[in-house]
Amino acid sequence: MQLIKFTKKGIYCPQGEFYLDPWFPVDYAVISHGHADHARWGMKHYLCQHDSKAILQHRIGADIKIESLGYNDPININGVNVSFYPAGHVIGSAQIRLEHKGFVVVFSGDYKTQPDFISTPFESVKCNTFITESTFGLPIYHWKSEKELQNELQQWVINNQANNRTSVFLGYSLGKAQRLMSLLEGADHIYVHRAIHNLNEAISNSGIQLPETTLLTNDFDKKALQNKIIIMPPGLLGSRLLKRVPNAATAICSGWMQIRGNKRWQAVDAGFTVSDHADWNGLISAVKDSEAEQVYVTHGSQAIFAKYLNEIGIKADELKTEYGEEVMAKAEQEYEKVVAQ
Ligand SMILES: [Zn+2]
Ligand SMILES: [Zn+2]
Repeated sequence: MQLIKFTKKGIYCPQGEFYLDPWFPVDYAVISHGHADHARWGMKHYLCQHDSKAILQHRIGADIKIESLGYNDPININGVNVSFYPAGHVIGSAQIRLEHKGFVVVFSGDYKTQPDFISTPFESVKCNTFITESTFGLPIYHWKSEKELQNELQQWVINNQANNRTSVFLGYSLGKAQRLMSLLEGADHIYVHRAIHNLNEAISNSGIQLPETTLLTNDFDKKALQNKIIIMPPGLLGSRLLKRVPNAATAICSGWMQIRGNKRWQAVDAGFTVSDHADWNGLISAVKDSEAEQVYVTHGSQAIFAKYLNEIGIKADELKTEYGEEVMAKAEQEYEKVVAQ
């Protein structure tokens, strides 16, 4: 039974004649979420979850041909039943479920099993074949609860204020920025960089309510910013804009902070482990709950995670794709640079 084929352009469904998050232009693309490594330019037709539609139009182009569905609201494409289930990763993120003649494949896209305050919580879906990401597929990764994170971040802001410092959080414009806004809501007034502001506007215009923020203009009033909160993309670290913020205390927010390997991050004052991906236990529970007979492990620690799954009796293979943190980081920064100019 082959409902999916792994091709050079991406994961293909021959019966339905469509691709899942393809990395080359195709006629029909079913998209899991708006991150740059999953939603790319050049598709003749896009299908995504409702909440991703405005994000894709904002990033790829207002004139793209795009259709959207709610969660668990199936559509039939050439005899294949296609539906979206919450992935808990970013606003609008979805696992893509395909069903044909009783055989079910679920493509996870990117997912996080722990609930946060902003994205629709992850729902596990039973299937025959599960394609899972593995960004943080090592046992060292274990996330705190959202409440603990909220306390940690807000306490940092309070400490900065006691020292007359402005709190600057660095995070990607899609996902991390909205997550930080929800974690910091109520702590003090939040200013956001233009790349984040524009995306937020597109999201809000589509009817999704976001915490209140103000655009950080290039000619910002230094006095007004004193002791406040700013969120900007990580590419802005070392920028002139950031250098002009008075008494800035900087923090990077990423799952990678658990290992603190990246040199670039040594230039910041604080690091918080805020991840939009599942941790080790989250990945294992998602795989087990899917009850899949065959698992394919993609972007991240696929070799180690696939090996572990086989050891506990779950048939798993590695799958090479063009998704992943590095591809995404590069492409996301391009989006943010274009806006920043
Ligand atoms: Zn993603
Ligand atoms: Zn990804």
